[in-house]
Amino acid sequence: MKIELSNKSANIATSMTLAIDTKLKQMVAGGETVYGFGIGEPDFDTPEYIRIAAIEAMNKGLTRYTPAQGTMELRKAICSKLKRENNLEYEPNQIIASSGAKHSLSNAFAAILNPGDEVIVPNPYWVSYTEIIKLNDGVPVIVETKKENNFKMTGDELNNAITSRTKAILINSPSNPTGSVYTEGELRDIAEIAVKNNLFVVSDEIYERIIYDNNKHISIASFGSEIKDLTIIINGMSKSYAMTGWRLGYAAGNEKLIKAMSSIQSHAVSHPSSITQYASAAALNGPQDDLKNMVQEFNKRRNYMYDRINAMEGLSCIKPDGAFYVYVDISTYIGRKLCGIKLNSSLEFAQIVLEKGKVAVVPGTAFGTDNYIRLSYATSMETIKNGLDQFESFINNNIE
Ligand code: PMP
Ligand code: GLU
Repeated sequence: MKIELSNKSANIATSMTLAIDTKLKQMVAGGETVYGFGIGEPDFDTPEYIRIAAIEAMNKGLTRYTPAQGTMELRKAICSKLKRENNLEYEPNQIIASSGAKHSLSNAFAAILNPGDEVIVPNPYWVSYTEIIKLNDGVPVIVETKKENNFKMTGDELNNAITSRTKAILINSPSNPTGSVYTEGELRDIAEIAVKNNLFVVSDEIYERIIYDNNKHISIASFGSEIKDLTIIINGMSKSYAMTGWRLGYAAGNEKLIKAMSSIQSHAVSHPSSITQYASAAALNGPQDDLKNMVQEFNKRRNYMYDRINAMEGLSCIKPDGAFYVYVDISTYIGRKLCGIKLNSSLEFAQIVLEKGKVAVVPGTAFGTDNYIRLSYATSMETIKNGLDQFESFINNNIE
């Protein structure tokens, strides 16, 4: 049989973050000791009160279909959260719960894009944005940012990328992979341009609560009714509540848009798991102390990681203001030999470091910038210390 697949599927790359994690798990299952800085997944357990809520939901028989848009209880909990933490007023009909923020993004692009519509994506960008846009018939327009500007897109850079086909701007603050956080002024510049050109802003705020020092997360939707109407807030439970495997993301936006996303979702997955929805409502309505403890711990790791990386020969990174990644410049290694193999790309670097050095990192190619690698510090301090020792000695002993 000849297997003929769609052009769309041929044009899509597998998620590199997930692929590296799978490889790492295989190596560990095979008995190897591997240090994982690959996947961005909190190493903490889901807080107990959330787990208890899920068990209660099952025992109460709340295991049946729910409305496609999500339960009213969960959507009300999301509205309260948006009011409490972001000072944003939304009604439950302006909220949709989905199976992870990835799925929320997918529904959002399916609802707004016609074939050939362009979405502006600042580079470096999280690995799945370009692929989700392409899967929904859109064209990602990559805007190069500057390291001196902490990899944030300026108003001028944005203006230069707008064409008659531009439909949306994607922003992600705090950013995966750089950890940068947009200031209020920077966001206001983007909001003004979006309103002037009538462009949607897809604002991925999933790391909003993992933020350090005096940095503040501000939602671009909070600058007035015009920009609020154009903004699709994307958020989810994975990072703030250590609930990656539960799969719950949500979006907030204009009622018409949310209704379209809900129709799309109703045919794809119906709704996210009922049990996860009940547990997520409990998470949002419950005590938030676990998060504070997690962020304090992430902050210690961030400081350690930043100091160690910048003390290593030939490596540097900016200090992340949020999220749990350092984005490390490896350009001084490109063109040199590691374990006798000439390094032409960050992908080769990451492959050798994983296979021979037993340390998992994600190559910058996954994020649009080839001279970089990303290290996640969502892993224990012990792993970070031992893993960085191994990483440093492996490179120093094998680089020519
Ligand atoms: N956005 C960003 C920036 C991410 O790093 C991730 C990775 N988890 C997601 C969205 C998707 O999160 P999830 O699907 O687990 O909710
Ligand atoms: N977002 C995380 C990461 O970038 C988890 C994996 C994924 O969803 O891509 O590593």
